[in-house]
Amino acid sequence: MPELPEVETIRLALEPHLVGRRFERVLIDDTRLVRPFEPTAVAAELEGERVAAVERRGKYLIVRFESGSALLIHLRMTGSLRHAAAGSLQEDPYRRAVVKLDDGSDIAYRDVRRFGTWQLLEPGELDPYLAQRLGGEPLERSFTARRLGERLAGRRAPVKAALLDQRTVAGLGNIYVDEALWRARIHPLRPAAEITPDELPPLTRAIKDALRTGIARQGATLRDYSTPDGRRGRMQDRFRVYGREGEPCTRCGTPIDKIRAGGRGTWYCPNCQRLGASSSLPSRSSRQSSV
Ligand SMILES: [Zn+2]
Repeated sequence: MPELPEVETIRLALEPHLVGRRFERVLIDDTRLVRPFEPTAVAAELEGERVAAVERRGKYLIVRFESGSALLIHLRMTGSLRHAAAGSLQEDPYRRAVVKLDDGSDIAYRDVRRFGTWQLLEPGELDPYLAQRLGGEPLERSFTARRLGERLAGRRAPVKAALLDQRTVAGLGNIYVDEALWRARIHPLRPAAEITPDELPPLTRAIKDALRTGIARQGATLRDYSTPDGRRGRMQDRFRVYGREGEPCTRCGTPIDKIRAGGRGTWYCPNCQRLGASSSLPSRSSRQSSV
């Protein structure tokens, strides 16, 4: 599922193709994408709009128009966007929408599972909509250890679950939370409120570093994600814990373990990431492998 680094990679790639261009023709071929609105009605409203900016907030891609309206795209599980030169789009049964730009090129939206959404918001609607749903942007300077501490305070949920909550930090998902907690040496099941003041600066850095690594490697391609020019991301070759059950921790050699936390499959190093001072979580491999 695309997280902040994947969406940012898409944004960076689409921005030069989209800014200043007009949506000449829009074809929306999926009722789920724009519900509760009619695809033809949304398409008609989008036609003629000229793009002022392509932005990102959390996992949302935002196409701002000169009119003040904005198209808010969330890729959810399997959504992806492709930019294609005029007439070069291949047949694709999972294509849900195509925007023809005024330079003849196409932006194609593909979504196998169809959980993605396109929302056309009127001027003034965007900021309150996002403010209600999203916490701070982790790569902005304003995202500090103190700010993170305020968001985790008083929460009994495991830190993994708290970080998956988009109101704590915008843009983190299952991959980058696991990677960040490993970098910060924090066990995913530790209660969020019990992260100590000493641990907050390394955790804040770990979140930023994990995300920046993801962006530098153009995101992680596990199944459906690809960049708008059709290439795979390369972050999956750099995972420290995510999906690496039984493989050695790159820091200490202990086999990576998999548990469930925050309702999600969660990978961590049972040696580097301890639940308590004297005990580590009893789980399949940590008993044999803990040093
Ligand atoms: Zn380790």
